[in-house]
Amino acid sequence: MLNIGCHLSSSKGYEAMGKTALSIGANTFQFFTRNPRGSKARKLDLEDIEKFLKICRENGFVGFVGHAPYTLNACSAEERPREFAREVMEDDIRRMEHMPNNYYNFHPGSHGGQGVEVGIQLITNTLNEIIQPNQTTIILLETMAGKGTEVGGTFEELSQILDGVKYQDKMGVCLDTCHIYDAGYDIVNDLEGVLQEFDQIIGLDKLYAIHLNDSIHGHGSRKDRHEKLGEGHMGIKTFEEIINHPKLRHLPFVLETPNELDGYAAEINVLKELFRENSL
Ligand code: FE
Ligand code: FE
Ligand code: ZN
Repeated sequence: MLNIGCHLSSSKGYEAMGKTALSIGANTFQFFTRNPRGSKARKLDLEDIEKFLKICRENGFVGFVGHAPYTLNACSAEERPREFAREVMEDDIRRMEHMPNNYYNFHPGSHGGQGVEVGIQLITNTLNEIIQPNQTTIILLETMAGKGTEVGGTFEELSQILDGVKYQDKMGVCLDTCHIYDAGYDIVNDLEGVLQEFDQIIGLDKLYAIHLNDSIHGHGSRKDRHEKLGEGHMGIKTFEEIINHPKLRHLPFVLETPNELDGYAAEINVLKELFRENSL
């Protein structure tokens, strides 16, 4: 079975989000853990979470992804933003533990001119301060497009971050198709080669989720602008290959394409059509 969903708003609560996922034929999804541009998190409503988890159980949902605000920067050159990133991530993970065994995805950050080595060190420091040895939430580093001074635009950088973390079994990677294509990994013409490279440098066993996005600007552009599937430089064939790939097909796939709900429902349908149920 294809594990497919999209980014959803959690602003009306978790139960409402679960129902929305169901209504568009999704069995997984992603949401922002709090206001994506700020710090405000809603009061934790355990009753709402209970109803939400019931929907997930009863409908066979697979692991979902809480996405950290993208304004966090765990490798800022200044101390205050780093502290802020640490506080928010720590609180988010504590919240995610009320929905055990799922994923918390974050953007590694931008080193702002300090150099990538310093950036990597600051990110691993943050992770080592917040990861609890008994947590069930797996923290995912998102593959980045490498724009500006972004850290995580290469598999090597992500691997170095993972190497520096003490509790490595709490860590993984979320691969964003638009980001890696923009970063220069040609998954349109050589998916197999890119996956081999990923496996050699990071390890495919570290890959827990995939963001499915086409790209407006295209290969090597380092831009990070998502497009609807099949309407960008990557083309629908690439996504057919990705969702059916023997090393990827079991993973949760999350759409972050520029769509409203009906657009997401349509893309989910297309992908279900393209998924080859019986292939091994
Ligand atoms: Fe992201
Ligand atoms: Fe993404
Ligand atoms: Zn993006």
